[in-house]
Amino acid sequence: MLSSKQISGVASHQECDTYAWFSQRAWVEIDLAALSQNVQQVAGFLSPSTKLMAVVKADAYGHGAVTVAQTALESGASWLGVATVPEGIQLREGGIKAPILILGATHTPEQIQAIAHWKLQPTLCSPKQALIFANTLETIKFNSPIPVHIKLDTGMSRLGTNWEQAAEFVQLVKRLPHLTVASIYSHLATADSPDTTVMREQHQRFEEAIAQITALGIELPCLHLANSAATLTDSALHYDIVRVGLAVYGLYPSTHLQNTIRLQPVLQLKARVTQVKTIASGTGVSYGHQFIAPRELRLAVVGIGYADGVPRNLSNKMQVLIRGQRLPQIGTITMDQLMVDVSSIPDLQEGEVVTLLGAQGQEQISADDWAKELNTISWEILCGFKHRLPRVAVM
Ligand SMILES: *Cc1c(COP(=O)(O)O)cnc(C)c1O
Repeated sequence: MLSSKQISGVASHQECDTYAWFSQRAWVEIDLAALSQNVQQVAGFLSPSTKLMAVVKADAYGHGAVTVAQTALESGASWLGVATVPEGIQLREGGIKAPILILGATHTPEQIQAIAHWKLQPTLCSPKQALIFANTLETIKFNSPIPVHIKLDTGMSRLGTNWEQAAEFVQLVKRLPHLTVASIYSHLATADSPDTTVMREQHQRFEEAIAQITALGIELPCLHLANSAATLTDSALHYDIVRVGLAVYGLYPSTHLQNTIRLQPVLQLKARVTQVKTIASGTGVSYGHQFIAPRELRLAVVGIGYADGVPRNLSNKMQVLIRGQRLPQIGTITMDQLMVDVSSIPDLQEGEVVTLLGAQGQEQISADDWAKELNTISWEILCGFKHRLPRVAVM
């Protein structure tokens, strides 16, 4: 590690490896070199005419939005995707000039005013919403037209106008004042599945919608359809922009896509040993005594818990890395602390670093491992780390 800088969070710190151990009980480490390489890998996978939108919603999947956005833009991305207006404003306040698409729905005059003021680009999902935009922009006498992105529902059954009404909808928006159609897009429901049947059907519907629009003599704007999984699956889904989240953060949307491009996890979760002690055989550990020591053992208390985002459901099921060794977590995970059986490291010292997610030596624990154990997806794991944990960027 060459240098580090805190990119969000409340605690202060100096150099990551040298600051006093008590100043940082737990933190999220963000490897900007890995992030940059992931973005380059994805960008290199696209044809030169396809642009890369780095999806940085939810504080860049928990990685720290502004720093991630800056690094992604320096590494080959040219668009950013967020979910909400405040997420877009945060990027603008952070000095980011790139085009920002708001993937979520926006309706209120306050949101529309903020979109115009901060030069954000909204998603339009329905004729009603398009009319609200045009009326609001008329009322606030906003002069330059706002680029809008038309969302079609081709089978996700989330935001968007049904693909069969695409041509009518585009025609309506084109007739409204104060709006220009910057893109038409849709979102895939099953792109991470090895069974591509539903994805092919959605692709077909998207193509039909485009054909309808073209048949009306309307010149096509940008088109986009692919998330990470679709981007890695088939270049026919790339169109003009791909919207990539998960892959930028170094995880594969599905194991069957692991042989496509080389990705490295960007995020590591670390904490420190706060106390080491020996407990006698038969001693219960933590709330509910869900773990009883089967022998005398050496126990380490680690300064991280479920209030930091370590899922309590991993109690007695997860492992951690200390000095390159994989060690079992024992007893119920508590709000701020958890315990580890460190019998194999008798001289372990308080203050030593524990890796909960990430790599030490030959050993590695990934968000996919947690997701599997918890019957969820890596996306949810990454988004689950609370803001009590400072994000520390390493380069
Ligand atoms: C979140 C999101 C993405 C990114 O999805 P990944 O699977 O993380 O690549 C793309 N498009 C839309 C509309 C999204 O909401």
